[in-house]
Amino acid sequence: QPITTDMATLTQQVKKFATDKKMEIESLKVKEEYRREFMGNVSHELKTPLFTVQGYLSTLLDGAMDDKKVRKKYLERAEKGVERLVYIVEDLDMISKLEMGDVGIHNTKFDIVELIQNVFDMLEMSADHKNIILMFDRKYSKAIYVNADKEKIQQVLTNLVMNSIKYGKENGTTEVTIEDLVKNKIIVRIRDNGEGIEQQNLSRIFERFYRVDKSGARSVGGSGLGLSIVKHIIEAHGEKIYVESEFKKGSEFSFTLEKDK
Ligand code: ADP
Repeated sequence: QPITTDMATLTQQVKKFATDKKMEIESLKVKEEYRREFMGNVSHELKTPLFTVQGYLSTLLDGAMDDKKVRKKYLERAEKGVERLVYIVEDLDMISKLEMGDVGIHNTKFDIVELIQNVFDMLEMSADHKNIILMFDRKYSKAIYVNADKEKIQQVLTNLVMNSIKYGKENGTTEVTIEDLVKNKIIVRIRDNGEGIEQQNLSRIFERFYRVDKSGARSVGGSGLGLSIVKHIIEAHGEKIYVESEFKKGSEFSFTLEKDK
């Protein structure tokens, strides 16, 4: 900027400079606080699977290795632990990018019906384990085109359907439906008849690292990041996500998308 000799303009420029710097420092402080809290959560999340892997490897080295059967069993468990670590690190990477606003949304036109079928195919084995039926009404035999980031919506659907299986009951069902909304919008619903979520926890499930059952005693794996990734992705599209649930009866997650011709 040109140097000015006008005192009033100079004072104004100095003031503006000071305010800008103050805002910059404030925003750095917020980022630093976020980073600190995030790192705390991360190390906490990583500890359990790391200790599991360490435990099995130490036991093997202490002699369990000599028994062929035990060796295989422990190595498999250690591998499971490493697998879990990989999932957590991938989720962490995604969530930190989303929260820092580093993830771009790349919209294309695609068929949401086909995407739902693909997600069902991928999760069929997990559903079979609990004898859960994945239902998608035959009336959606025709394509329904939407305008959105296909890869990210696939992740949203995967996380929501996977949750409906993880927290669903044996021999239960997961039902996906699509409805027209006003003004070029559709709403996709994922409904299960599983364990449901108590009212007092409902407002917190989209927070990162929040899990209703913190004990970890349950066999259901997860890091508590899935739903917060889902919410970020939907909101980055400028769309909305809802949840309704009745404890011990089931849950319904739904989100809106923009239709394409
Ligand atoms: P994670 O499944 O890894 O714990 P999420 O962020 O996907 O993390 O979900 C957070 C919590 O919300 C879960 O731990 C679970 O308590 C609850 N939850 C999510 N989906 C469902 C569902 N379909 N039915 C019941 N509870 C659910």
